[in-house]
Amino acid sequence: CRTSAITPMTPKKPQQWLQVVGHAGSFHVGDYGTLLKRFCEGEQQCYLRLMEDSLRPFVPAYHGVVQRDEQDYNMMDNLLTHFNTPAIMDCKMGTRTYLEEELVIARERPQPRKDMYEKMVAVDPEAPTVQERAQQAVLKTRYMQWRETLSSTTTLGFRIEGFRKADEECHTNFKRTKSREQVIEALDNFVDSNTTILWGYLRRLKQLRQVLEASDFFKSHEVVGSSLLFVHDWTGSTGVWMIDFGKTAALPSHLMLDHRTPWEEGNREDGYLWGLDNLIDILSNMLPL
Ligand code: ATP
Ligand code: MG
Ligand code: MG
Repeated sequence: CRTSAITPMTPKKPQQWLQVVGHAGSFHVGDYGTLLKRFCEGEQQCYLRLMEDSLRPFVPAYHGVVQRDEQDYNMMDNLLTHFNTPAIMDCKMGTRTYLEEELVIARERPQPRKDMYEKMVAVDPEAPTVQERAQQAVLKTRYMQWRETLSSTTTLGFRIEGFRKADEECHTNFKRTKSREQVIEALDNFVDSNTTILWGYLRRLKQLRQVLEASDFFKSHEVVGSSLLFVHDWTGSTGVWMIDFGKTAALPSHLMLDHRTPWEEGNREDGYLWGLDNLIDILSNMLPL
């Protein structure tokens, strides 16, 4: 959990930004309520297209590339700007969090990996097969696919990466939060059982789903490793935005995704909308009838 504060030119209060998850050192707080994220060309391409798409209200506004200390950054709106000591949650969407391309690359040079074996055993000593145990190593493809089955990614099409409630520490211990019940417990904790906040999130997610179903951008991209950022504060304001397009890939022009069909290698489906359906269903069931 990383926090930074700067004093901007005009606003009276210092610009607050804090990060729930993600790579350390990739971000800087910019001027006038902006945020700088370490440049990634794929992500820039996505933001440029998103600014022309019906999804525009559901992503941070994009302001182009800026340089700081010889490093390029994508400049976007800081989504926390209009909240008062917000609570924030990062939910990674989809039934897989690696690209098909990554799987192909990992398979081209199949090397037994001791480091991945050790990571696997640290989480679940029972996970390796007899053969993997004998080698004390696993293939990267195997590790990537095993990792997805730990959390709710494969079973629900989304996972909680982490959240932070106002003035509390970050909770990021959700790697093995997998069952519907565990997810509900975590969500209930995040909103402090506040049904007004839940209604706000639910309304926004239903709007997002409608827009996603008609979006040209969404049809034509494999959206992997992208998150929904949930933000609320004590005034009852809520918001949800799509962030993190570092692994979102444009499809060849003949291909279109519905984001609900189960993934089979080659079809490039990512399960994003299926995950959103599940998330909406879970939140609906947390509310009184
Ligand atoms: P990873 O690929 O590991 O998920 P990343 O380096 O690509 O991480 P992001 O996922 O884009 O980074 O963002 C990390 C965190 O930073 C988010 O969980 C969120 O807390 C914060 N964040 C990102 N973009 C914004 C934004 N526009 N406004 C406010 N907070 C943001
Ligand atoms: Mg992310
Ligand atoms: Mg990322």
